[in-house]
Amino acid sequence: MTRTAPQHFSTRLLDWFDRHGRKNLPWQKDISPYRVWVSEIMLQQTQVSTVIPYFERFMARFPDVLSLADAPQDEVLALWTGLGYYARARNLHRAAQQVRDEHNGDFPCDLEALQQLPGIGRSTAGAIFSIACGGRAPILDGNVKRVLARHAAIDGWPGQKAVENQLWALSEQHTPEQRVADYTQAIMDLGASLCSRSRPQCSECPVSEDCQAYATGEQTRYPGKKPKKTIPVKQCQMLLIEHPDGGILLEKRPPSGIWGGLWSLPELATDTDPGDFLQQRLNESGDSTALTPLRHTFSHYHLDIQPIHIQLHRAPTLIMEDQQALWYNGGPQQLGLAAPVKKLLDSWIQRDLLTNPMAD
Ligand code: SF4
Repeated sequence: MTRTAPQHFSTRLLDWFDRHGRKNLPWQKDISPYRVWVSEIMLQQTQVSTVIPYFERFMARFPDVLSLADAPQDEVLALWTGLGYYARARNLHRAAQQVRDEHNGDFPCDLEALQQLPGIGRSTAGAIFSIACGGRAPILDGNVKRVLARHAAIDGWPGQKAVENQLWALSEQHTPEQRVADYTQAIMDLGASLCSRSRPQCSECPVSEDCQAYATGEQTRYPGKKPKKTIPVKQCQMLLIEHPDGGILLEKRPPSGIWGGLWSLPELATDTDPGDFLQQRLNESGDSTALTPLRHTFSHYHLDIQPIHIQLHRAPTLIMEDQQALWYNGGPQQLGLAAPVKKLLDSWIQRDLLTNPMAD
């Protein structure tokens, strides 16, 4: 019996997309380069269900690139609070300003020009170009890498240039001439749904017929894992300094580096006495209580945080320097906060932090 060759990869994927693909995601409506760009940046390392409410809030506040460009960075970071990887938000803001200043406020529909904008790499540029500009360009985000690596059984970690190049070549080869926007949505959707990381549903998959990983039952072997390296643990103290009238002292971090531009609690080395810090910073004293420690994990290290609550005896007389510090009272200020700082402040607001001090 002769076996017919499977249809082209993209034909099968588009058929599947027509029948099962998601078409009602917020960024699939009123499609524009601006909306596709913001969604693509938010979706990096973040799941669709998490992104949806952030995207909707962001669009309500910044409906176009100019409103984003003209906004204070604090407001942009505030709307990003909880999404993590804050460099994405800072780049988004800078890129919007670049579009305003260098492209007369019109998002460029040009692959090269798109990649000149901060935070836009080849794959994001390809997605914007294909979905919103009517062009044709391959993409290679995390989901697409997984589908392609499995389908062609590409060995190795995609962080290695040689592996990445192979995947780009496959992506280019599969991208059709027609219906590129739908195809781009379709392959991202397949990776985010059926071809999931740990439990791919291959029996439902439109490209299973010639998927090499499925044929050998080795789906989870692809893509290859990043070579393991143990990440170091750093430690610090974070001070929740409480004003006698209520309010916790927050300081703005420098614009670059970890949590750049976000508001944070004063952070001290573990061998620094919080009492000394208080004297120097505010010329005051207070009662300290050590609270339950928490760990925050960055991509390259763990940070073990020892929170210390300090109730000031008197209102400090020292004047705060030029808007780089404030007393936070849980009010409606728009502040960008790092995830563990937000967690500590929320606990403080709910007062459950203080009922759960460390054993000693
Ligand atoms: S057959 Fe399975 S492993 Fe292969 S692309 Fe489809 S879902 Fe992924």
